[in-house]
This record gives sequence, structure tokens and C-alpha cells, in this order.
Amino acid sequence: PRLANQIAAGEVVERPASVVKEIVENAIDAGSRRIEVELESGGSRLIRVRDDGIGIDESDLPLALSRHATSKISSLDDLEDVVSLGFRGEALASISSVSRLELISNVSESPDGGWRVVAEGRQMEPRVTPAPHPRGTSVLVRDLFFNTPARRKFLRTEKTEFGHVEEAFRRLALSRFDITWLLKHNQKVVHQLPAVAEDQAGRERRIGSLLSKRFLDESLHLDLEASGLRLWGWVGLPAHSRAQADQQYFFVNGRIVRDRLVAHAIRQAYRDVLFHGRHPVFVLYLELDPRVVDVNVHPTKHEVRFRDGRLVHDFLFSSLHRALAAVKP
Ligand code: ADP
Ligand code: MG
Repeated sequence: PRLANQIAAGEVVERPASVVKEIVENAIDAGSRRIEVELESGGSRLIRVRDDGIGIDESDLPLALSRHATSKISSLDDLEDVVSLGFRGEALASISSVSRLELISNVSESPDGGWRVVAEGRQMEPRVTPAPHPRGTSVLVRDLFFNTPARRKFLRTEKTEFGHVEEAFRRLALSRFDITWLLKHNQKVVHQLPAVAEDQAGRERRIGSLLSKRFLDESLHLDLEASGLRLWGWVGLPAHSRAQADQQYFFVNGRIVRDRLVAHAIRQAYRDVLFHGRHPVFVLYLELDPRVVDVNVHPTKHEVRFRDGRLVHDFLFSSLHRALAAVKP
């Protein structure tokens, strides 16, 4: 099982940023209102995520680290309408097979009611020991890839790895405005984001501190709905500099997505209106019935499959086309 976990880890755990993504998604699934991410040395020395979610109880702690142990699916029928972010039950097992992983959790309101379990390269300590922790969970990942030197060699500089983590953090913080977020690197606060109201002003406050003020100044807010589909967010206008060419965020039911069909529809709309030769910049949210979109395509879950791709494509294209044409100078 150790080898199988390390192989699976190859799919899920590429670098510190992918570890952060998986652990934070678990924290989101646990109903957390506050999520803190702390790193040392770009995450290769330490990744620590602390949440205030429902926690994991004593008897489930060792289970959380075993492969295909997920608490999120109890029957095959559930697969049809998965709304939680994780459901494969392999992230923690994979991460623990290539790091020194510590899990501390408390399901009760009593601050000394917590429990702790440690796994080192999958050699788990047999015992779960008491450990004080407020309600919620802390996951500590030390020395990522310490036992897979070939993979450790692929890690880039501290600065580059932290850059990837920050980008992953940005996507997560853009996916949940109602959560309070903190990102620290080498003891320094990089992002401190209070939860904001779920309205345009609140969300713009979040976007302004996470992206740039300039992005907001030079973009257009839109919110359109048709045939059970809703598209809202911000699209950048042509004055945008090339320096921000990488600011493209598209969420489907709250999950970040990089999808060819979506990219094509957006590109077409921009091209058709006026944005020749420019990378569009956007933060967009598509909402639709979870039963008409399949998110279980790839372990890292960046791709989606729409039941009616044509409908989605046409809706995206025409919504953006209409919005962009309205502000065409
Ligand atoms: P998955 O998220 O696909 O279920 P994971 O390996 O990521 O699989 O997590 C395994 C299980 O551990 C989850 O199903 C959940 O029950 C538990 N778990 C992990 N992280 C947390 C957390 N932060 N809060 C509460 N439960 C958690
Ligand atoms: Mg998970």
C-alpha cells in the first residue's frame, strides 16, 4: 500500500502548492469559517493549515490517513451530486506517503479535547494521543518528498514554490468570500483577508486586496442568467497591461476550472468584440445545476464535463459578448 500511495501521490502531490490545495479543500469541506495557511521555506520544510471546521474524532483520525477512506460519499448514488470538493479519499494518504504528516483535531468545544496522530512516510504511529487544540483541525506537513529524493529534486527555489502556493491560495480565497483567510510565509503575513459580505461591494474588497486595484478599476462587473445558468463576475477591459495577462480565474459552482470549452467561449467573445492580441483578464463564476456537470474527470479536478457543452458554450459566449459590446469604447 505504501508504494500504491506513493504512485497515487504522483498524481495529486506535485509540489507544495498542490498539498496546500488539497488540505485547504478539506478544511472548506469541513465547514470552516477561518482557514490559516503557514509555510516555511516555500512549503518544502513545513506546510501548516489550521481550520475551525467540524474536526475529526478520535476513532476516525487514523482512518483519515488511509487510502479511499472518505467520509464524503456513502453510496454510489452520492457520486451523482457531489458538492463537496474532495471525494476520492486519497489526498491525505498520498501526502502522508511522501512527507512527515501530523494531524491534530478536536470535534468538541473544549480546548483540551483534541487528538493527534503522526504518519511518517506512511509508517503511522499506532497510537492516537491527546493533544490540546481548539475545535477544528490542524494538518502539518513537514519535509515534503524527504523519502522520494528524485521528486524532491524537482522542487524549484523557495520563491518559485511560494509563488505557486500563493496562486493556489488566491484561487481558494476567490472561491469563498465568506471565509476568513490568512497566508503566512517564513513568519510574515502575506495575505490577511476578513470574510466579506456576499454582495458586489464585499467581493470587490476581497478582489482588490488579492489581485490588484487596477484590475477592478479597469474591469466591468456582470451578472447574467438564462436557461438555468448564471454567469457573474468581472471582465477586464482592453486598457489592461500585459503584465497581468495571467489573471484568469473561472469557477464552476465554486470550483476553479481550466477547461477548453470555457476558454474557447471566452476567447471567441473577446475576439469578436475588440480585444485583438490581448490576453483577456477575468474573474468569472458560472453557476449551474450540479447534476449537469461532471467534476470527477481528473484527480486534480481542474477539468469539468458539461452534460450539454453546447448550451454552456453558447451561454458563456453570448453573455460575455453582450457585456463587452455594451462597454466597447
Ligand atoms: P477526501 O477529501 O477525498 O475525502 P482526503 O484524503 O482529502 O479525502 O481526506 C480524508 C478524510 O479525512 C475526509 O473524508 C474527511 O473525513 C477527513 N478530513 C480531512 N481533513 C479534514 C478537515 N480539515 N476537517 C475535517 N475532516 C477532515
Ligand atoms: Mg480531500
